[in-house]
Amino acid sequence: MFPIGCSMRGLLILSVLLAAVFGKENFAGHQVLRISAADEAQVQKVKELEDLEHLQLDFWRGPTHPGAPIDVRVPFPSLQAVKIFLEAHGIGYTTMIEDVQALLDEEQEQMFALRAWARSSDTFNYATYHTLEEIYGFLDLLVAEHPQLVSKLQIGSSYEGRPIYVLKFSTGGSNRPAIWIDTGIHSREWVTQASGVWFAKKITQDYGQDPTLTAILDSLDIFLEIVTNPDGFAFTHSKNRMWRKTRSLTEGSSCVGVDPNRNWDAGFGLPGASSNPCSETYHGKFANSEVEVKSIVDFVKNHGNIKAFISIHSYSQLLMYPYGYTEEAAPDRDELDQVAKSAVTALTSLYGTKFEYGSIIKTIYQASGTTVDWTYSQGIKYSFTFELRDTGRYGFLLPASQIVPTAQETWLALRIIMEHTLNHPY
Ligand SMILES: [Zn+2]
Repeated sequence: MFPIGCSMRGLLILSVLLAAVFGKENFAGHQVLRISAADEAQVQKVKELEDLEHLQLDFWRGPTHPGAPIDVRVPFPSLQAVKIFLEAHGIGYTTMIEDVQALLDEEQEQMFALRAWARSSDTFNYATYHTLEEIYGFLDLLVAEHPQLVSKLQIGSSYEGRPIYVLKFSTGGSNRPAIWIDTGIHSREWVTQASGVWFAKKITQDYGQDPTLTAILDSLDIFLEIVTNPDGFAFTHSKNRMWRKTRSLTEGSSCVGVDPNRNWDAGFGLPGASSNPCSETYHGKFANSEVEVKSIVDFVKNHGNIKAFISIHSYSQLLMYPYGYTEEAAPDRDELDQVAKSAVTALTSLYGTKFEYGSIIKTIYQASGTTVDWTYSQGIKYSFTFELRDTGRYGFLLPASQIVPTAQETWLALRIIMEHTLNHPY
């Protein structure tokens, strides 16, 4: 028992001690600020902040253009300096998350309370976050339960040697045209891997029930990679919940990891990525340097018949298509825009969640070396990327209670894209 009045402090100390014992990064006192840069001069000022490495700022949404929200996690020791800087330049901000560690503690308690080794995919808990081992266990359950429909392929091994798995949903044929979906290439975007698990179960439930999905699977295969960055994902559980990149080492730098969504061979190294190994958007030494990326590249090239490629991120509530690295319009822009519009309409119809859509560069920011710019360059016309919930209230720390609704609404959009792919062969 803690004496009254000391309990809050006691709990804080206890959580710091526990974290130290397990070697986990502690985020006590870290805040997430939403900055509103009103004009170009203010955007430039925030970019100056971005370059101050000693502040250890983690931009969840970086500065782009005036009016676009900027979300940044500020470590406790930098808070005063950042707030004084913003105030000195008349830049507005609000506090989105008062204490990052408090949200992480809630997330851990929820996971812990609901932890149970599922004996079947029916008793698996879709409304909580899971570890890599639990998700890999789930893949095996699903394959064992539906051997006629689902199989598990290993397309490679991660930098640290973990197997990289893809689920294949197929009703027969050989090398049928296919749809690819991946989640979790950025490891901290936990709602995406959790949604991927839910999609896998949904496909097995709806085949033979939902006429649309049944028609899709009677002609097309679906490949689903749920944990696209297994090393990063394991690291978010064991050491640092906020980890985004891969875990590869860069010669000559003490900073770890490459941004796997800047490492593809499409506009590689152009503006929209960083050449600094310590940056969250570090593009790597060369295109496909990351084995997690290269494994997909090899798979896509060997398959040769992938017709839609959907790469899922969080957060911001966006559905986007190429390009990310150039302002130039994609040749199929009009069709992609129509498909995106229909997909977003379907998504919003369920819970009213608002999504914006458009090309990556116009909708979010310039980004080079991204997944779908590369897949589009390979002739995969229906290349899309999502940013799921939310718009910043919780950001990457979306409460587990929102996993299932997020997956459900996203599924409606995926269904539209898959149906369009089925009905527009090329
Ligand atoms: Zn992402």
